[in-house]
Amino acid sequence: MKVSHIEHLGIAVKSLDEAIPYWEGALGLKCYKIEEVADQKVRTAFFMLGQTKIELLEPTSEDSTVAKYIENKGVGIHHMALAVENLEEQMADAEAKGLRLIDKAPRKGADDMTIAFLHPKSTQGILTELCEKK
Ligand code: ZN
Repeated sequence: MKVSHIEHLGIAVKSLDEAIPYWEGALGLKCYKIEEVADQKVRTAFFMLGQTKIELLEPTSEDSTVAKYIENKGVGIHHMALAVENLEEQMADAEAKGLRLIDKAPRKGADDMTIAFLHPKSTQGILTELCEKK
């Protein structure tokens, strides 16, 4: 696989309204976008930190995977997203190397990215997202 950098860290929060003041107030970052991703049942908020983004994830439904994550593990780092080019090629390579794909085909992510998730059981316990700028 060929990854260029950490595109973003996905962070599970109970409430964007409660979380954003920490990132803006304490850390001095600026939220540049809030976007709902309906098929993932989350509302996201984005901050830029160097070439890496912070993606806050607030569940919009109790059956959201992020809601289940918070229930089981609490708020905090949910996933790591790696920037790639030629996402489909990288997915095929990941599968050839024995990694488990959660997404069998690329899908639409937040902030104009095309994404695919790898299963944490095959990635050292880290839910890993591959993402490519559209
Ligand atoms: Zn993400």
